[in-house]
Amino acid sequence: MVGGGNAGIPCAIFAARRGAKVLIIEAAGQVGGTLFLSSGQMSAGGTKFQKSKGIDDTPQEHFDDVMRISQGTANPTILRLAVENAPATVDWLFDAGFEARPEHPVMGSGHDPYSKKRYFWGMEGGLSILKILEKELAPEIARGAVTVLTQTEATELIQQRPGGAVMGVVAVGPDKMATRHLGKSVVLTCGPYGSNARMFEEIEGVRDFADTVYPYSQGAGITMALAAGSYLRGQQCHQPLFNAILADLEVPSPLLVRLTSDPATRQPWEIWVNARGERFVREDTLSYDEREKALLKQPDERCWIVFDDAILKESPSMCRQWTNGELIDAFGTYPTFTKAASLAELAQATGIDAAGLAATVADYNSAQSSGNDKLGRKHMPRPIETGPFYAVRMQGYYLLNTAGVAIDANLRVLDHDDKPIPNLYGAGEMLGMAAFQGQSYCGGMSVTPALTFGKILGERLLPIG
Ligand SMILES: Cc1cc2nc3c(=O)[nH]c(=O)nc-3n(C[C@H](O)[C@H](O)[C@H](O)COP(=O)(O)OP(=O)(O)OC[C@H]3O[C@@H](n4cnc5c(N)ncnc54)[C@H](O)[C@@H]3O)c2cc1C
Repeated sequence: MVGGGNAGIPCAIFAARRGAKVLIIEAAGQVGGTLFLSSGQMSAGGTKFQKSKGIDDTPQEHFDDVMRISQGTANPTILRLAVENAPATVDWLFDAGFEARPEHPVMGSGHDPYSKKRYFWGMEGGLSILKILEKELAPEIARGAVTVLTQTEATELIQQRPGGAVMGVVAVGPDKMATRHLGKSVVLTCGPYGSNARMFEEIEGVRDFADTVYPYSQGAGITMALAAGSYLRGQQCHQPLFNAILADLEVPSPLLVRLTSDPATRQPWEIWVNARGERFVREDTLSYDEREKALLKQPDERCWIVFDDAILKESPSMCRQWTNGELIDAFGTYPTFTKAASLAELAQATGIDAAGLAATVADYNSAQSSGNDKLGRKHMPRPIETGPFYAVRMQGYYLLNTAGVAIDANLRVLDHDDKPIPNLYGAGEMLGMAAFQGQSYCGGMSVTPALTFGKILGERLLPIG
């Protein structure tokens, strides 16, 4: 198994329980992968946890909801496999001691909601899951069924010929020596490619401005699978997330704070403009997906939150994590926060088109006064007219990778003719977000499928014995 993260650990546990001898090759100093950073939000329809709360739900309803939210862009075969097996994954976690937040499950948070309460997470996010996985893995390591090689990076597959049977992997350990590891099956669970700037740009077609993902997410599984004769699916579903205010203009930059853009939590007082100075979505839309899809179409997937001094003084803080005092301090501290005496100076300092910005603000002020906005916005408490003026640069960003390796319903990696490459399997985010959620973010639909596919590979799909 290449990669001991969210998908790799359950695969190892269940394969070992079935009698397999498992080797986990892990590039980092410890297993866990993206679970160290992940919010660990999961979703499944038809769990014992839901039943205990009186919620009647099914995998079919989960499937239908994902297809509705993603407007039919998810891969139906892969999605069905994920949702049908998700309840057993979740039941296993709870049986092993997982505890969800007391108010859970919920219908949604941070993404467009499901129609049923099937979305939940633990008090410590991804770490709440990792603790359970480590507890379940420990006895398998203790009895010698699973061996973990940390600080060991798989570099290539050992294969009879491109497209031919996979016999094992070559991996470089802490001593920098390359070693051949042979096995009956090789499972690629090496995670996404978000920390590989070159691969990200090649596949997604844009730069990744934010530094938000696990450093070992270098796309190694994809590189190895492609070299073995496979291909990628899902690139067309590229989609940024909304809300990120970065600390710096450098690339990649840490995420500093998030705009509270959900009107259920805070109604917008500001306008959002692109580099041409144009508004591009009604700022008070209830749909996360609508905001994200609108941002996708803007130059560099970027916009500025523009407001004036009266709004700054009167509105509740636009970033839930910050007070208004902290927001004011940010204008002297971070290059993504700009303050200017006039709109023209604001445009010049940010690079927003000055004529476009002036026209947009005039148009918005007139809509604010008449109550009739061309984009349909209803919440317009104040015009933007009292200097100084402010702009905060907001950048589209990614926690998930869009594209992934082609697999079939038995999680076998496919070649260009859609024939399985013998002995090669894949699970987790190296299969790409598009397989599970298409072009729209659906709550929990990366963590849960990763766990689930790892589990069913170990439980039944890998040939053992
Ligand atoms: C900040 C953040 C928040 C998120 N929140 C959510 C959420 O709430 N809900 C949700 O559904 N999804 C969420 N996601 C996504 C989700 O966490 C991931 O999709 C999922 O955990 C990936 O699991 P994985 O097993 O595919 O990869 P990982 O867990 O990253 O595991 C891959 C492992 O492979 C190792 N590896 C890499 N290359 C090699 C190599 N060459 N040789 C050996 N080992 C290698 C890595 O070190 C790592 O341990 C979030 C992601 C981020 C970054």
